[in-house]
Amino acid sequence: MASEKTQAIVIRLVEFSETSCVLTLFTEDFGKVSALAKGARRPKSAFEGALDLLALVRIVFLRKSSDALDLLTEAKLERRFRSAQRDLSRLYAGYYVAELLAELTDTGDPNRELFLAADQALLALDTGAGVPETILRWELEALRQAGHLPSLDACVVCGQPVTAAGRVPFGMAAGGVLCETCRPGRRGVVSISAAVANLLKHEIQRLEIAEAQAPIPPEVRGELRAVMASYVAHQVGHRLRMSDYLASQ
Ligand SMILES: [Zn+2]
Repeated sequence: MASEKTQAIVIRLVEFSETSCVLTLFTEDFGKVSALAKGARRPKSAFEGALDLLALVRIVFLRKSSDALDLLTEAKLERRFRSAQRDLSRLYAGYYVAELLAELTDTGDPNRELFLAADQALLALDTGAGVPETILRWELEALRQAGHLPSLDACVVCGQPVTAAGRVPFGMAAGGVLCETCRPGRRGVVSISAAVANLLKHEIQRLEIAEAQAPIPPEVRGELRAVMASYVAHQVGHRLRMSDYLASQ
């Protein structure tokens, strides 16, 4: 068994026995990992209370070669997700970061950029950044890493330029806006406002050049959340549990 050291975000925590728990961790170097933490629920465990949901931790774990769970041997807390105690909307947003991370990734598929993006999103939520803006940046970054960014300025089927004015047809399954030729007969098409289409287009451009985000106007937040919840659901295969809790963001 190889012993590995890395940083990780705790994205799921399930009690396993009276003294142990099973963790899902998204690690900096090994992607998503499921590990058993023996004795973690004892008052004086080797993990010193580091194993909190959404905490950033430095871990040592033993990789099992078979289907067995990896074994967590050490965990040191680097940063707790403190918003949990302060603000429900930030807590839900944090859970959503974890849920999307868990759903979009396969076990043992390393992706350092995705790890850094999740870490940054949790830190932003904890340090007072705008909640709707942080959620959107995280979603777009996660979708980009997974190769699922929507197309907003060209028809996703034929590539013809589409200018959003008034309302524009958006294929949830197809993955972006549709021209008038490609729209008929296609399933899973909704009509989105030009305001939301353009906001998404500009935020994707900003993401790609690592530029700061623009504030999201309150009047488009409801529609934006509905569009993103449905879009993410189509990419993942089911609606995310936390989507409903973000509806008012
Ligand atoms: Zn087309």
